[in-house]
Amino acid sequence: MARYQFRDTTRIGPVEIGTFTDRYGREAHAAACTAPGCDWSASYLNRPAAELAARSHRCNPR
Ligand SMILES: [Zn+2]
Repeated sequence: MARYQFRDTTRIGPVEIGTFTDRYGREAHAAACTAPGCDWSASYLNRPAAELAARSHRCNPR
């Protein structure tokens, strides 16, 4: 079963951003950190918010 189809993916540091359509048919923007051991991710209603979150994200040292 297909999950979200991401488009316009970009990368800011270790964080990837992708635009997708959520299950309500709205456009949403996900930011997810790809660094090993960091499972931070979040979704936003607009692209600048996702990009800002990606830029300000700092991997959580344990
Ligand atoms: Zn991280």
